[in-house]
Amino acid sequence: MEYYHIKKEFKTAWQKKILQWYSKNKRDLPWRQKKNQQFYNIWISEVMLQQTTVKTVIPYYDKFLKKWPNLETFFNASLDEILLVWQGMGYYQRAKNLYLAKEILKKEKININLEDLKKLPGIGDYVSSAICAILVDQNCTVIDGNIKRIITRAFNLDKNKPNVEKNIKNIATKLTPIKNNRFYCQALMDMANLICKNKTPDCLACPVKIECSYKVNTEPKIKKRLVKRKLGVTYFIKFKDYVLLQRSEGRILENLYCFPITRFVEVNNELEEQPLLKAIADNWQKINSITHNHVFSKFVKHTFSHFHLKLFIIEINLKRKKRFANFEWVLKKDIVNKPSSVLMKKIQEEVFC
Ligand code: SF4
Repeated sequence: MEYYHIKKEFKTAWQKKILQWYSKNKRDLPWRQKKNQQFYNIWISEVMLQQTTVKTVIPYYDKFLKKWPNLETFFNASLDEILLVWQGMGYYQRAKNLYLAKEILKKEKININLEDLKKLPGIGDYVSSAICAILVDQNCTVIDGNIKRIITRAFNLDKNKPNVEKNIKNIATKLTPIKNNRFYCQALMDMANLICKNKTPDCLACPVKIECSYKVNTEPKIKKRLVKRKLGVTYFIKFKDYVLLQRSEGRILENLYCFPITRFVEVNNELEEQPLLKAIADNWQKINSITHNHVFSKFVKHTFSHFHLKLFIIEINLKRKKRFANFEWVLKKDIVNKPSSVLMKKIQEEVFC
């Protein structure tokens, strides 16, 4: 790790300019209202803001707070109710962790400090630091992807170097103020969103343009990851007004309801598609004792963060209601009351149209 010595004058100017900019330019966000400066509000908003933009989060946050205005009302929420409010926002493990954490909070009171907060499911370095800084003005260093971008540019760090993360943390820690960190960390969040934007930073409007070492067009390019392509099959199995659903497992669609779905298999070219699909479907149907000829006509496409999925749909009308160990029959009209993913909504559009 390189050692960054930051002069006192630099640090003072950096903090002062950022705090002054914030006092005039801060965004008016629902969780920032004075009445919402409570653990519950900051916790819910910061968990939502991980992986999701402010613009997307606001309506979800409002809906969440309308349903459960405070921690006491949230104590009564079921996992399905939380997932229903969360559906469409993605990264559903966050919703499950909120559920697990509130189950703990029901039984024990926690203190607002990094150590205690990190004991709760779903609260890591970023969320615990943000809560401690915003609520009790602790001078803990708050670092997310946006704040990393400001530090990387301002100190001209090479994103491709192996120690870059440690260097960012080292610099960010040295720049964190002893007092007013509650405003400083939120100022960085706003600066990253309004000025030091991902694609084109608006350096002329930036409060630390004199201190910043960023040179336009000199940013080293991040090597692009090749995004994988995967195939899978989902089954739309009906009996009269009932359809077969499963509660999904695994990290991607955890705990959401979906039509029965096979595992996803990586595919390299289109020629491989048909034999792979046949193998996946044959295997799934054998396990579930279903005999049906495959017709792979309909499909939906969906992009997850790390792969593109092409999901083929097989429709089956059963003549009698068969019992399945891992699935449940649900009335078609009740599907809307089950928490489901964006992928499931796409499949529904395809099969119900
Ligand atoms: S001067 Fe430009 S690159 Fe540097 S922190 Fe400000 S907006 Fe970002």
